[in-house]
Amino acid sequence: MLVPEMLRHSAHVRPGWEAVAEGGRTLTYAQLEERAQRLANALRGGLGLEAGERFGLLSTNRIEFPELYFGAAAARLACVPVNYRLAAPEVAEILDDAEARLLVADPALGELVARVTGDAGFDGRLLWLGDPYERLLADASPGRRDEEADDREAVLQMYTSGTTGTPKGVVLSHRNVVANSWHLLAEDSVVASDRYLSTGPLCHLGAGSRIFLLAHVGATHLIHPRFDAERAAREMAEGTANSALIVPAMVRQLLDAVDAAGTSLRGKVRLITYGMAPMPRDILTEALERLGCDFQQGYGLTEGGPNLTILPPEDHRPDASGEWSQRLTSVGRETIGVRVRVVDADDRDVPPGEIGEVIARGPNIMEGYWHRPEETEAALGGGWLRTGDLAMVDDTGYVYLVDRSKDMLVSGGFNVYPREIERQLEQHPAVAEVAVVAEPHERWGEVPVAFVVPSSTVDGDELDAELARFCDERLARFKNPKRWVFVDELPRNSIGKVSKPELRARLEEAKA
Ligand code: AMP
Repeated sequence: MLVPEMLRHSAHVRPGWEAVAEGGRTLTYAQLEERAQRLANALRGGLGLEAGERFGLLSTNRIEFPELYFGAAAARLACVPVNYRLAAPEVAEILDDAEARLLVADPALGELVARVTGDAGFDGRLLWLGDPYERLLADASPGRRDEEADDREAVLQMYTSGTTGTPKGVVLSHRNVVANSWHLLAEDSVVASDRYLSTGPLCHLGAGSRIFLLAHVGATHLIHPRFDAERAAREMAEGTANSALIVPAMVRQLLDAVDAAGTSLRGKVRLITYGMAPMPRDILTEALERLGCDFQQGYGLTEGGPNLTILPPEDHRPDASGEWSQRLTSVGRETIGVRVRVVDADDRDVPPGEIGEVIARGPNIMEGYWHRPEETEAALGGGWLRTGDLAMVDDTGYVYLVDRSKDMLVSGGFNVYPREIERQLEQHPAVAEVAVVAEPHERWGEVPVAFVVPSSTVDGDELDAELARFCDERLARFKNPKRWVFVDELPRNSIGKVSKPELRARLEEAKA
């Protein structure tokens, strides 16, 4: 099956059903499919893109996301959604890597777009959402394109940075997107009667991939521009929304908002899905007790398309004596359609209780990294995706993540790779050496903290403010260190590498 077929099905069987709603605007399935077709014809017609090309999308969560994803697929193009919290040079680097000749942009991001097309050097064509985009659609043909794509052709290309700090484009094909959707539909992650709330960024695959399964099953997708705990709590309590996807960092705020409004979600919400970052057990059990609805956890990564494992609602219920299951600290078991193993350095399954790397195979796993054969071989060689996540597995297949071998932190649902921050700071003349580690944070889950050895020639006064300014110009705000620790030297392990565990321990000590 190809991606456009997923939407064609819902437009065929439930044409008048509400497909998507955002900020007072709604589209039925018939309207959504027609707009996706018009867009596909415009992209390949007036906008002059050719089959196999990539175009950029820089937008906050808006109603156009589903038609852009489906329109790209119908046009045999790949959409490259770029995180709008990145700094302009980071956005331009991604567009350049993807060889994008077109950027579809949200007028709400006018300043960022001006910097991307100015100093940062993107010189392709710009298409603004809003009036110019609507005019383009109105003038385009609504007819279905009858070009058959191959199911290994790209429909999405999403960027992740990895430990090297350089962004890599994860190529996801029709086959990947359709497979991930079918797997999650088989797990009842989404059902046709859902009015499904998306608050996370649709430019990230965690939330973005839901666009496809929601449209395929014919559910209603409610898009919020950003996470607003009061609004989410109100819409769930009123029954406007009856299921949602959230990241762990949002759960505490949601609990507070439900309390503040004096409402309850009991009996009103079918399912809350969480994932994308570690979920603290205490917050989870508090949410289970106080919200009284079913929860499902998903674990995956962009390269996995994304979903690899699921912890289903049954494992979120207390046993007969009222005790919560130990399994709440796991990410569950392999999703229907996916194989997941935990292996040692020789690719042998580790025995229960021992630590290994999570690897996975299935039709959902990415086709590869765009134009990076070596990295693709390192990630997919041997026929299994190496996730870089370290885990233990029990004798019934539940996977317990213990650490990330890839040295990443998740802040407010966004990945932060310490290497990216270090790479920038190393260029500052006042910095002799730097190492960045994660510190747990109430609101954001984790935040970066920088340990800096200042150059000998430097006057340390206000160096933290100067370095913060330096980062602000070059990096997305969520990547800027929230704390600066100045040290004489960095601790090193026996092979001379900076010891991040030692630095993390020092953070703990400093707090105690
Ligand atoms: P991304 O490619 O942005 O989706 O990031 C994927 C990474 O997020 C994974 O490799 C994990 O390290 C982390 N992650 C995803 N889901 C979970 C989860 N349910 N629990 C803990 N960490 C997770």
